[in-house]
Amino acid sequence: MKKKKQIAVIGAGIVGLAIAYKLSLLNKKVVVFEKEPAEGMHQSGRNSGVMHCGLYYQPGSLKAKLSVNGIREMIAFAKENAISHDVCGKVVVATSDEEEKVLLALADRGNKNGLKGLKYLSKTELKKREPFVRAKKALLVPEEGIIDYKAVMKKLVYKIQENGGSIYYSSPIKKIFDTSQSSTQINTNKQEYKFDHVISCAGLWSDNNYKNLTSKKSPLKIIPFRGEYLKFKPGYEDRVNHLVYPVPDNQFPFLGVHFTRMIDGTREVGPNAVLALKRDGYNRNSFSIIDTLESLTYSGLIRFIMNNLSFSVNEFKSSFFLKNFIAKAKKMIPDLDGSMLERGPVGVRAQAVSPKGELMMDFNIIKEGRQIHILNAPSPGATASFAIASHIIQNYLPR
Ligand SMILES: Cc1cc2nc3c(=O)[nH]c(=O)nc-3n(C[C@H](O)[C@H](O)[C@H](O)COP(=O)(O)OP(=O)(O)OC[C@H]3O[C@@H](n4cnc5c(N)ncnc54)[C@H](O)[C@@H]3O)c2cc1C
Repeated sequence: MKKKKQIAVIGAGIVGLAIAYKLSLLNKKVVVFEKEPAEGMHQSGRNSGVMHCGLYYQPGSLKAKLSVNGIREMIAFAKENAISHDVCGKVVVATSDEEEKVLLALADRGNKNGLKGLKYLSKTELKKREPFVRAKKALLVPEEGIIDYKAVMKKLVYKIQENGGSIYYSSPIKKIFDTSQSSTQINTNKQEYKFDHVISCAGLWSDNNYKNLTSKKSPLKIIPFRGEYLKFKPGYEDRVNHLVYPVPDNQFPFLGVHFTRMIDGTREVGPNAVLALKRDGYNRNSFSIIDTLESLTYSGLIRFIMNNLSFSVNEFKSSFFLKNFIAKAKKMIPDLDGSMLERGPVGVRAQAVSPKGELMMDFNIIKEGRQIHILNAPSPGATASFAIASHIIQNYLPR
């Protein structure tokens, strides 16, 4: 009998778990190693909980392809497994002539990416849907929605184990030994394992993992961008009914401060995008000397800051002064005021920056021998996780 392929996945975020789940369905022997004591403790458990269907992304890019396929698979998985979700649609709001032009181009991009049912809302339609939102023009994206990504991950863990896979928590992987032509050895602090392939889905640590496991210099650097949210105090939830997004600045991969109805009914406003001084820096005073030195001595980040000084300073200000934060949201809901809001959760985005100082927009995957590294999987990585898994299995693993 042919021996089952043994595959190690590093990282129990939603991307690593989706890959492990799909491999377990293909009868592979999968082991997931996670450095934390539970799954989804970083980006996948600290995001906006939105399912994006491909409005923003460059036609032909991996993001465009994988978010369109990914959202369909995510909704199907949620339906099959009774996971809370709601395809409530999203409104993208232009508040000036300039933004209106960008919105028209965005709709065009959405059509090219195969989105269905895009339509501009009349003033009456917008008022009925979102009475507090003021817009020059508003685009409805009906296929998008919200979901409980933590519940998705819990279910994935259950299914991986049910299919014979294993998940080892509190198991950071620091090194890999290429022991022979046909296998790779992983040592944890507890044991030694041999695998045919290793897939690293390490989010905020993807560049470090690449360097440690391949002994090569990473072609990009992960810069952590903290995303802080405010939330509506009880009694003010009616200010927003669904998802309300601004027209994004196409120079950046961040979608801008938006309003999100979360799956538990609460309403969040955010996130901003503040350069963080620690990869898992969830507080404004989080600091790691190593992460800070690595970031500040990286020529790519210095170039980025020089080229985008006002963006960097503005985002920083929005972290310290609520007035600055709220001003971004007030463009869409002018009646908003600070007394309706309180500080909410925080996430940190793993954003790849090239040595030239560009924020890398698309997903980035590299194969090195029997190792596959997902180096950049920013938003909509959660929406697209099942499609990323299929993409890796079809294109990076031998049939
Ligand atoms: C504020 C914010 C809002 C977002 N909003 C959305 C949204 O609404 N919709 C959407 O689709 N996407 C959104 N995203 C993006 C989305 O969350 C990410 O694309 C996705 O979670 C990436 O998943 P991942 O598994 O690659 O990374 P992560 O969830 O970060 O998981 C990586 C895992 O690898 C582990 N790990 C790292 N190194 C090692 C090691 N050496 N050994 C063992 N384990 C290791 C980490 O502990 C971690 O658990 C948002 C992200 C943020 C931060």
